[in-house]
Amino acid sequence: MANKRDYYEVLGVGKDASADEVKKAFRKLARQYHPDVNKDPEAETKFKEINEAYEVLSDEQKRAQYDRFGHNAQGGFGGGQGFEGGWTDINDIFNEFFGGFGGRQGGGAQQGRRSPRRGADLKYELKLDFIEAVFGTEKDIEVSRSENCPRCSASGCEPGTSPTRCKTCNGTGEVRRVQQSILGSFVNVTTCSACGGTGEVIVSPCRQCGGKKQIRSVKTLRVTIPQGVDNGMHVRLNGEGEPGMNGGPPGNLYVEVHVTPHPFFRRKEQDIIVELGVNVSQAALGDDIEVPTIEGKEKLTIPPGTQSGSIFRVKGKGVPHLRRNSRGDQVVIVTVSIPKTLSNDQRKLFHELAKTMGKEVTTQQGEKGFFDRLRDAFGV
Ligand SMILES: [Zn+2]
Ligand SMILES: [Zn+2]
Repeated sequence: MANKRDYYEVLGVGKDASADEVKKAFRKLARQYHPDVNKDPEAETKFKEINEAYEVLSDEQKRAQYDRFGHNAQGGFGGGQGFEGGWTDINDIFNEFFGGFGGRQGGGAQQGRRSPRRGADLKYELKLDFIEAVFGTEKDIEVSRSENCPRCSASGCEPGTSPTRCKTCNGTGEVRRVQQSILGSFVNVTTCSACGGTGEVIVSPCRQCGGKKQIRSVKTLRVTIPQGVDNGMHVRLNGEGEPGMNGGPPGNLYVEVHVTPHPFFRRKEQDIIVELGVNVSQAALGDDIEVPTIEGKEKLTIPPGTQSGSIFRVKGKGVPHLRRNSRGDQVVIVTVSIPKTLSNDQRKLFHELAKTMGKEVTTQQGEKGFFDRLRDAFGV
């Protein structure tokens, strides 16, 4: 995904370009770089790039996602899959430009059908519990996908037989018809429907795949989840998507992580937040308390005069960074619990205490409230 050019830049339009402008820019570039017209070896790469950019920017929803998340959004819903759809579209558009009036070099449609195509990307949603996401884990997942038929080696023909040339199109994959119109006669070229443009017909289809060249299968794959992953992140398994056609490379498998919430730990990027209640005397006198962390209990000293909503950090007890050798903190929000019921002794003591504390009330102006402190601690 690195070094990918910005889609707007690829099409040479501004971020505020209308759907119409995007379409126009795309058509112009597609005409220029279509591999059937442009024989420059770079043209095909360029054409794919244009096509992929258009695939996203012409779709209102995908474009909005791209505007928000950039190329990262793409990985998730499978650029490869999109591209495949895009390829068909462009052939249609290409036909519109060149095909209809016989100006095209023969075999265009056939080439399209036979040329290698990358397999579609697949997505798998994987549930992890909170601790698994923090420390990383290995999981076996079952993925349902197609694979090249082992019986016929993806030829579609029963072993020992081979396809024969299509009689309808004489092996060219396309049907040409001369049509008359008020502008004169022209040749209309369409893909041969008898052979689907391949120029070949399978007489004895393979018994395992029925001539489809691929079969469905369920495969067990082991996924290594790195430490520090978070909800919604993707782990990419290269080449584990759908197989390619006509010798094209397979797509990728994207494992999307869904983290089950923890009963009392919350996560904010690399920090883990826990809220702990202390009683009035612990808050007033200070105390050593035990804090639950993802690795067991840690001691935390709260100072005398701790206010409700105070935030403390236990350094280095948070979530490991995905790619760095460091960790976030365990963040402790201390709230002071006021007793709802008192024993007789306690009530007596509170009365004693009350005599020493007077009866003034103060305004809290200038004091930082709970949300101000949260904002200070997390920048939220
Ligand atoms: Zn087969
Ligand atoms: Zn045919």
